Amino acid sequence: MEQDCVFCKITRGEIPSIKIYEDADYLAFMDIRPRAPGHALVIPKQHYRWVWDVPDIGTYFEKARDVARAIQKAFSTDMVHSKVEGEEVHHAHIWLYPDPKNTLGNKDNLVGNAEKIRTALG
Ligand SMILES: [Zn+2]
Repeated sequence: MEQDCVFCKITRGEIPSIKIYEDADYLAFMDIRPRAPGHALVIPKQHYRWVWDVPDIGTYFEKARDVARAIQKAFSTDMVHSKVEGEEVHHAHIWLYPDPKNTLGNKDNLVGNAEKIRTALG
């Protein structure tokens, strides 16, 4: 299962991604089918089926918060949709994206939007 997991392949560098943040345990990168400018995903590098399976979920959510705050800043928006679904890819992930109706910018400019978020992360 982990062999075929798209997010595990991204973590291992077998599939390219536009990264926003990375440390030993967590990775944030751009969603390739963005719902709004700056649509990002935060994942644990280890394969877990569900967000609720991640052992250190406190640290995981702190990382997600850091990225959400950076999205707020980068796109001058208060509203950041923060979604835990898990149906599309069977590897724990949190979706973060600003309000599609009220966010300026090109959602398909993944490289430019990633740069904005990285800058806001500091
Ligand atoms: Zn995986």
